[in-house]
Amino acid sequence: MKKAGVVAITDDGHCVQNNELMRRAVEYAKMFQLPVLDHCQDYNLVADGVMNEGHWSAALGLRGWPTIGEDVIVARNILIAEQVDWHIHCQHISSARSVELIREGKKRGIKISGEVCPHHFTLTDECVKTYDTNYKMNPPLRTERDRDALWAGLADGTLEIIGSDHAPHCAHEKEVEFDFAPFGIIGLETELALSLELVRKKVLSLRSLIEKFTVNPARLLRLDEGTLSIGATANITIIDPEREWIYDVAQSASKSRNSPFHGWKFCGRALVTIVKGKIA
Ligand SMILES: [Zn+2]
Repeated sequence: MKKAGVVAITDDGHCVQNNELMRRAVEYAKMFQLPVLDHCQDYNLVADGVMNEGHWSAALGLRGWPTIGEDVIVARNILIAEQVDWHIHCQHISSARSVELIREGKKRGIKISGEVCPHHFTLTDECVKTYDTNYKMNPPLRTERDRDALWAGLADGTLEIIGSDHAPHCAHEKEVEFDFAPFGIIGLETELALSLELVRKKVLSLRSLIEKFTVNPARLLRLDEGTLSIGATANITIIDPEREWIYDVAQSASKSRNSPFHGWKFCGRALVTIVKGKIA
């Protein structure tokens, strides 16, 4: 797989529950210098939870997906990364405690890192009160306290990467009761605009935000990308951070429409994408 161009391995969607198996996987990945990307979810603790466990899950009568179901796996990953001395990257982190754990682990020099999605740093579990399944994602939207911790984690560099966790689903799949809808939303077209909000709120500098979309993920995956240096591959996005626009999901380039951000007014947009020197 490495010869074929694989740059990392991941269990996204099926978090490895057996810690011994995870340890062996990380040991093997280390032999091939491949980072391991992990979707952090303990299936016993989460069971059939559909939204964050807390005030709103109780009020709405929906089964809870507790933050500890994420935290326990983040802690497990830190211990394995330390033991094996190899890199585990925790995907789409949503809880305050997980941010703390990663911060601590990094301070101790352990090869651990974390990522966050715009929906988690923008929305909270209160949104679910509409029962709109476009607010159902995995991990789920959390509380304001968690959201604030994600901002702090982004600001101090604990969370190095912003990812969309883009998950297209057909309308007929999402147009069912909240319990039965699949997890996930589309996010590629809105992630930049939502992230630029953090620059406007002075959580992040523009420079730091751009790093989280470019050099930081490139470093994790050991790709010679994400820079404008001479001789580098011309994979470039030209953005206008001041461009105002309204997101109309019906105009999306995706075949899917499952976004909670339909109708949102945004400031900042990608104008041109250049892939290997050609405007795409
Ligand atoms: Zn995932």
